[in-house]
Amino acid sequence: MRLSRYLLPVTKESPADAQIVSHKLMLRAGLVRQTAAGIYAWLPLGLKVLRNIERIVREEQDRSGAVEMLMPTMQSADLWRQSGRYDAYGPEMLRITDRHDREMLFGPTNEEMVTALFRDAARSYRDLPRTLYHIQWKFRDEVRPRFGVMRGREFLMKDAYSFDMDEAGARHSYNRMFVAYLRTFARMGLRAIPMQADTGPIGGDLSHEFIVLAPTGESDVFYHASWDAATEPETVDFDDADALQRVVDGYTADYAATDEKRDADREAAAGDALRQSRGVEVGHIFYFGTKYSAAMGLGVQGTDGTSVNPHMGSYGIGVSRLVGAIIEASHDDRGIVWPDAVAPYAVGLINMRADDARCAAAADDLYARLQAAGVETLYDDRDERGGAKFATMDLIGLPWQIVIGPKGIEKGVVELKRRATGEKVELSAGEALARVRG
Ligand code: ATP
Ligand code: MG
Repeated sequence: MRLSRYLLPVTKESPADAQIVSHKLMLRAGLVRQTAAGIYAWLPLGLKVLRNIERIVREEQDRSGAVEMLMPTMQSADLWRQSGRYDAYGPEMLRITDRHDREMLFGPTNEEMVTALFRDAARSYRDLPRTLYHIQWKFRDEVRPRFGVMRGREFLMKDAYSFDMDEAGARHSYNRMFVAYLRTFARMGLRAIPMQADTGPIGGDLSHEFIVLAPTGESDVFYHASWDAATEPETVDFDDADALQRVVDGYTADYAATDEKRDADREAAAGDALRQSRGVEVGHIFYFGTKYSAAMGLGVQGTDGTSVNPHMGSYGIGVSRLVGAIIEASHDDRGIVWPDAVAPYAVGLINMRADDARCAAAADDLYARLQAAGVETLYDDRDERGGAKFATMDLIGLPWQIVIGPKGIEKGVVELKRRATGEKVELSAGEALARVRG
């Protein structure tokens, strides 16, 4: 993409209304713009990141055996009356009346809708287990939308729902998601710690929030220091329930809990190794048994012929919140430092002197070669000062920068810079191409 044809409204000053670094950088780097309180437009560069995150989430959901579908944002109030949540949900729900005076709502979550759809489609134990997911915009009229996309009112969520014949099956489905989440966040370059979370009025011990440590996070968290050196999740057979349980047991062996689920005994056992921090909740998984299936009349025929209410779980990931969370975890004083897997472009190609025919020809040529090699490149071909171009590239945080200038042309080299380390090397255009292809 040529920057001369792009929409990238970067700013030097930090916007006054932004309190945390990710929000400031998202505005300064031209990723998003607020269009109403807690509602954001995704500008081209921000959308690229959002799509990359969405793709990783989707790939790991698919790998774990979940099946993608797409449910609408608009829902009918009657659907929510079936579960009794229409009146219970409170002012976070955006209620809307259509032209025929029918009560509608902009979905804050989809338990009711997916339960109704499954009730319509599943007949017997042969139709289970199933895990369905979608990636769809949600609306919650948050009391205090803040921190940009971290706590928006309209936000993109991946939500999955599992249906099993019994609790043991539901636990297996839960464990699938648990491991899928570990893999998902690790691929984004994030360390998200699964923490015991409150299950609310339903009780039980099956709820984990996946928390990225950040001083600006909204959650208070407590954990064993061993988490500071967490390892990459291993490859597992998602169909092997026992193997999966062992992996989950391994990951939950060390203490990690949100404020609501602190455990005095385990904290005492941790002793000096107990850590307290703040964190951002990027995912939440939940087993809630037959709450919705029983309330909404979802029954399937069991092996003995009787009707069984499936055991269900729900599993959310804050896709748009992740954009902010990744920036909180990966930036420096010059701007964003995107992990390779989610970077909007792999390479920022800078022509130092757009007014110099030789520089322009060399930059055009390398740009064409990068494109031919399938390397996503943002090419700063604008007639601007070199200093401004460098500052913009550092701010938007692409993993690699390639700089073409008159001195290098004399020597037959370009400068390749790794954004994360600042390391610079001079090499031929062909060598630079080989390096960024990895
Ligand atoms: P929170 O405690 O942060 O309000 P929640 O418990 O309401 O979160 P869930 O209903 O479990 O969240 O939603 C699943 C995921 O969606 C959360 O883990 C979070 O990453 C994301 N999320 C929830 N609310 C928002 C919001 N207002 N803006 C952006 N992302 C959100
Ligand atoms: Mg909430």
